[in-house]
Amino acid sequence: MARQKEKEKRSGGGWKATLLLFLLLIIASAAVLFTMDGRHVQFRLVDSSEITVPYGVDFVDPGRSAVTTGRIFGPALLLPVESSGYVNTKRIGTYELTYTTEFLFNTYTATRIVHVADITPPVITLQTVDGYEPDWFTGYEEEGYLAWDDVDGDLTAQVQFEQLEDKIEYRVSDRAGNETVVERELPTASAPELTLLGDEIMTITARMDFEDPGFTAVDGKGKDLSDLVTVESNVTPYRLGEYQVIYSISNGEETISVLRTVEVVPVELPEVIQPDEKTIYLTFDDGPGPYTEALLDVLAAYDVKATFFVTQEYPQYEDMIGRAYREGHTIAVHTASHDYYKIYASEQAYLDDFYAMQEVIYRQTGEYTQMFRFPGGSSNTVSNFNPGIMSRLTGMMNSMGYQYYDWHVDSGDAGGTRSKAGVVANVTSGCAERRTTVVLQHDVKDYSVDAVEQIIIWGRQNGYTFRALDLTSPTAHHGIAN
Ligand code: ZN
Repeated sequence: MARQKEKEKRSGGGWKATLLLFLLLIIASAAVLFTMDGRHVQFRLVDSSEITVPYGVDFVDPGRSAVTTGRIFGPALLLPVESSGYVNTKRIGTYELTYTTEFLFNTYTATRIVHVADITPPVITLQTVDGYEPDWFTGYEEEGYLAWDDVDGDLTAQVQFEQLEDKIEYRVSDRAGNETVVERELPTASAPELTLLGDEIMTITARMDFEDPGFTAVDGKGKDLSDLVTVESNVTPYRLGEYQVIYSISNGEETISVLRTVEVVPVELPEVIQPDEKTIYLTFDDGPGPYTEALLDVLAAYDVKATFFVTQEYPQYEDMIGRAYREGHTIAVHTASHDYYKIYASEQAYLDDFYAMQEVIYRQTGEYTQMFRFPGGSSNTVSNFNPGIMSRLTGMMNSMGYQYYDWHVDSGDAGGTRSKAGVVANVTSGCAERRTTVVLQHDVKDYSVDAVEQIIIWGRQNGYTFRALDLTSPTAHHGIAN
């Protein structure tokens, strides 16, 4: 029994020693592990250790923490961190923040560099005017803008802008080089309305001048833009054909055009009526001249109406055209220049001369005439230098409503006959053979004018009536020889 107890006692003492040994072993191992682990403090900074923050915006630390960490066991304990230092975002500069923590009686620190800089671009504010619509012609008018930078202040004056096709680009940079670009969509201007007065397709009879019925041009705001309209026309109103008038208004980028078609059609001429009675049509070419006044006096004295195919060869007597017209004589075109080589050079040359004479007639009588006589007559061959010109001119002039007159009896006063008696003889013998006679004389020949009184007396004695030509009178056309 005692032996057993002793045994227990002995064995009880062995257990304690074993435990102690065991504990020492663990502590030693822990110390070894701890040393091998190399436990230390690690700071973790959210973002980087050197950051740039915008001027003027309250600074908020992006975050930091500190942990203990080792080679074997990794991060473990989160440690409290204190920070010191400050960042003044109202002042551009570089600041330093210091983070501090303690571990195992040691103090650990980390720093963060914070640059306060102007990294915010300026702000451009576009202003708008209520109900604003740009003028189509003059274009967009700036409604206003402001540019503000947190650091540099008002930059409105530095704004550069450029107008592109349908927008404006506004651009400004602050002193730190931050650039802002904004765009304004341009409001569209209502295009003007170009409206034709009169018909879009016009039919006119051949005539001297074409009077355009006109147009209206009004922009979206009701402003009259008529003065800006250009009219392009190839209308030749005295020549048969189809022409176009183009009305355009342009602002440089956009052109609005409308078109009018003008068709020139022939003028109907009245039918020729043969007079019932024996009739003499005295006609005088190439005046008025120095003897026209005397001629008018004679005609007035006998109350005879005659026809004058007038020229501009003696412009100082132009007013005789007016007198003859007022006294009931017929005024018709002969030629302004009486220069064969000029007028028969082309249709246009002929017309230029013809219309020059029409203007003189208009000035003296207040009207244009549809009646004319070709220089040299329609049968002339002096125009042979331009083959076919007479055929072309007669057709063209007729379609324009002009009637030409030749003659039945030539007094010869422009040729071989140089006396009053000779003119009387030629005219009376010529008329005696006919019931209706168109007589050719020239009132620029004194002997021819002198012969008129005797011709009138002879005619009346022989039962003739003297008349002025009108559009229904015999035309006495010769055959065309060129
Ligand atoms: Zn002549």
